[in-house]
Amino acid sequence: MTTPRPVIVGTGIAGLWTAWRLASEGQPAVVVTKETLADSASAWAQGGIAVALGPGDSPSQHAADTLAASDGLADPEAVRILTSEGPSRVYELLALGARFDRGLDGRLRLGLEAAHTQPRIIHAGGDRTGAALIGCLAQVIRCHPLIELLEHTEVVRLVEDGERVTGVIVLPGSGADYFLRASAIVLATGGVGQLYAVTTNPRVATADGWALAHRAVAELRDLEFLQFHPTALKLPGVNPAPLISEAVRGAGALLVDRAGRRFALDADARGELAPRDVVARAVAIADAAGGAWLDARAIADFPAVFPGTTAILTRHGLDPVHDLIPVAPALHYAMGGVLTDLQGRATRAGLWAAGEVASTGVHGANRLASNSLLEGLVFADRAGRALATELREQAPSGLPADQPVAALRRDAGADAACEPTLMEMRELMTANVGLQRSEGSLLHAEQELARFTGATPADAWRTHNQLLVARLITTAARRRRESRGGHRRSDYPPAALERESA
Ligand SMILES: Cc1cc2nc3c(=O)[nH]c(=O)nc-3n(C[C@H](O)[C@H](O)[C@H](O)COP(=O)(O)OP(=O)(O)OC[C@H]3O[C@@H](n4cnc5c(N)ncnc54)[C@H](O)[C@@H]3O)c2cc1C
Repeated sequence: MTTPRPVIVGTGIAGLWTAWRLASEGQPAVVVTKETLADSASAWAQGGIAVALGPGDSPSQHAADTLAASDGLADPEAVRILTSEGPSRVYELLALGARFDRGLDGRLRLGLEAAHTQPRIIHAGGDRTGAALIGCLAQVIRCHPLIELLEHTEVVRLVEDGERVTGVIVLPGSGADYFLRASAIVLATGGVGQLYAVTTNPRVATADGWALAHRAVAELRDLEFLQFHPTALKLPGVNPAPLISEAVRGAGALLVDRAGRRFALDADARGELAPRDVVARAVAIADAAGGAWLDARAIADFPAVFPGTTAILTRHGLDPVHDLIPVAPALHYAMGGVLTDLQGRATRAGLWAAGEVASTGVHGANRLASNSLLEGLVFADRAGRALATELREQAPSGLPADQPVAALRRDAGADAACEPTLMEMRELMTANVGLQRSEGSLLHAEQELARFTGATPADAWRTHNQLLVARLITTAARRRRESRGGHRRSDYPPAALERESA
């Protein structure tokens, strides 16, 4: 009988860091990932990591900004931990070989982003922070003798033995599914973007962690709080939708509707530069009424100023000097998730969660820009340390017995045949559980999701998992009878709007 090891699900920043921390504490671990190690939202992160390192900045100021963004729902203790432990994690990254951009004086270059009161965003390779970070961690993980990496291996379900989660059923790219016994399972499965019609999230972001945890009766929290980016490139069949950065609007690009009319001023006097959620709602309205475009034709020398964006547009046959750029709001980030304590333990014994899949309490109702990579680092680190301590203290006899698990019936074609249902689900979620919700839209979505679920064959387990999470989000949004952070209900307008219209 082999000794069970912790199984970490996912190779974004949270999964890789948990594995590294466990290994550096002398604990072996198995890391499984659906596709390759590089397929994650983490590898795509552009902006950077928020960390209070600059002169005049402090963790408490970073915490105050984070709490302000959270619209009253963040846990102050979780935020204190995030902001005060962040600098040590960044120094550790540097020691591992991560290269962040530096100024001429050799110091880390600190950028300023919306809603941060101090310059505190570190970048790597300009707008390629995630790729640089994951590249660095990948090298460490791939050659670490205590870490086994299983790529093209999908976790299908969690296996329980009484009160405890004791392993996972995994499905390799080729061959049959099998049971992997585990001393603990750490979910680091990332976000839920692929439940929506337009998203910046990679194809692997299908909300698996939320479905797995819910089916194992672990508690989820704050699922209704989702963040949308206002301007992703919208082209039929282009999924995920590449981000067209706020900097393009900052340089003077205007948002126009299908009549060529500049519409952002209808929503806010600051027009295209109003807060993200305000612009996103204005774009959604224009999109639903026939389309929304960025007109960047007046920006002098666009290709030289935005070479990355120009390359993306060129790949899709668009020339920003002559063409309008079709845009739509895109599901970008999930604030809630699997409820954890401040060490990453979920509410089910043996189950842990870290990164975007988790709800540690740091984001509340809205995320402060560039805090998610930091959360991945800080809370994965805490999970790794706490889990290593538990494993050291665990008596071998306390481990569950190795048991065969009945093979599951699988029809490889069942999910492929459900793609039309998933497309309908994505449109339904975007229209009814998107930037603007109401009792009527949410009720309609619930009924439609129940209908889709009833019509989906039992073998299509991936489809069922996505429909399940879509339903959980919708129900959570129905229950929250207020507008707060990323959750906006037209039937419960925010207090400020009520005053304005009164
Ligand atoms: C385009 C873009 C730009 C962003 N820019 C920034 C930024 O500048 N700064 C910032 O702080 N945040 C940014 N974010 C958000 C941030 O990147 C994510 O929140 C963060 O990287 C999530 O990390 P994670 O480790 O939790 O999950 P991910 O990085 O998403 O990794 C999830 C992993 O789980 C695997 N997985 C999922 N399901 C299964 C399964 N069933 N079985 C096996 N493996 C599975 C996936 O394959 C993947 O490897 C950005 C996000 C996007 C999409």
